[in-house]
Amino acid sequence: MEVADGVHRFGTRMVNWYLIERGGRLTLVDAGMRGYWPQLTDALRSLGRKVEEVEAVVLTHAHADHVGFAHQVKANSDAVIWVHERDAEPGLRRFPPFRLYLRPTAWPLLAHGLRNGLLATPDAAEVRTYTDGEVLEVPGRPRARHLPGHTRGNCALHLADASVVFSGDALVTFDPYRRRRGPRLLIKGVNEDNDQARASLDELAVLNARLLLPGHGEPWRDGVAAAVAEARRNGYW
Ligand SMILES: [Zn+2]
Ligand SMILES: [Zn+2]
Repeated sequence: MEVADGVHRFGTRMVNWYLIERGGRLTLVDAGMRGYWPQLTDALRSLGRKVEEVEAVVLTHAHADHVGFAHQVKANSDAVIWVHERDAEPGLRRFPPFRLYLRPTAWPLLAHGLRNGLLATPDAAEVRTYTDGEVLEVPGRPRARHLPGHTRGNCALHLADASVVFSGDALVTFDPYRRRRGPRLLIKGVNEDNDQARASLDELAVLNARLLLPGHGEPWRDGVAAAVAEARRNGYW
């Protein structure tokens, strides 16, 4: 589904990933879960494109539900996997603490993850790292904004020409662990540093864009600052 000019949203009710098409060139933002690979091949076919044409997979962070099929893209193309330098070590695949999945509200997410090969996400990968403020030399040229807390290297990606911010898991519009909707931070236990995650909202709020595309949940079309204000109203945890 095209959510902005040349920006397509895919995934499931649980997890999003995105495709940027600029000047006929392709960048992926996140790579869903491993089992979402057919979504990519179907999406590219419907756009008349091929996996070999993907030039970059830019990860907002290194959680396994965002690293997903990145390795498979790389194996089938010359694509470079990009991740913030602080999420590149020790490996490229992190899992939230398993105890989070013990809550009944998280069972559908757990079942979904198990069905979609979450635990089999490869760890090792050759990556290119990026830093805060960097304009990535990939199709679309998003600017990275380091918003640590969810993970130490979590970033938003700002596509100014399309008035789009990909917020990763710095702010979501659906928390699949608690099954709550609306702009918010994810459940406390999933963040590496909750205080930092809360503080990073201030940094997110200053990004000037109308459309916020989160790692989880529906697009938010009323501006990034309003999404942050709404997250604060929803309470942090
Ligand atoms: Zn995450
Ligand atoms: Zn996530």
